[in-house]
Amino acid sequence: MEQANVVIIGGGLVGCAIAEALSSRWSDVFVLEALPKIGMAASSRNSGIIHSGLYYPPESLKARLCVRGNKLTYEFCAAHGVPHRKTGKLVVAAALAESEELVALMKNGEANGVEGMR
Ligand SMILES: Cc1cc2nc3c(=O)[nH]c(=O)nc-3n(C[C@H](O)[C@H](O)[C@H](O)COP(=O)(O)OP(=O)(O)OC[C@H]3O[C@@H](n4cnc5c(N)ncnc54)[C@H](O)[C@@H]3O)c2cc1C
Repeated sequence: MEQANVVIIGGGLVGCAIAEALSSRWSDVFVLEALPKIGMAASSRNSGIIHSGLYYPPESLKARLCVRGNKLTYEFCAAHGVPHRKTGKLVVAAALAESEELVALMKNGEANGVEGMR
């Protein structure tokens, strides 16, 4: 085949997600991956955390995408039988002086729409 409507370079999380979204519209979507299989780079070598969106500045793109992505990731895992754990996260003040930072983080998370904080 010499022509295609869509060619995506890189079969990591981002490339595969784009391919999945576009393939409902086009039947000839190709993912070109340099490694032997898809998802062998950062996407399967990261810390495996489903981030909450606690830290990012309110109304930033990162904050919005992280909070929405958190919900979508759990939904995706449930729908597709992807093993995962919802462990929650402890953010700890190691000294009294750091406790104010926890209050600020809590407010930041609330402003970002992070649910279930206490
Ligand atoms: C140490 C570390 C820890 C992280 N921890 C987390 C975490 O806990 N939670 C979280 O949500 N995110 C985490 N991240 C971020 C997350 O892993 C990345 O944001 C995500 O995997 C990026 O996906 P990607 O598809 O852009 O990149 P990649 O997964 O790197 O995919 C890019 C692909 O493109 C291919 N490629 C590159 N050049 C070419 C070429 N010329 N031709 C063909 N193929 C090519 C590569 O082989 C690769 O497969 C972490 C990142 C790092 C580095």
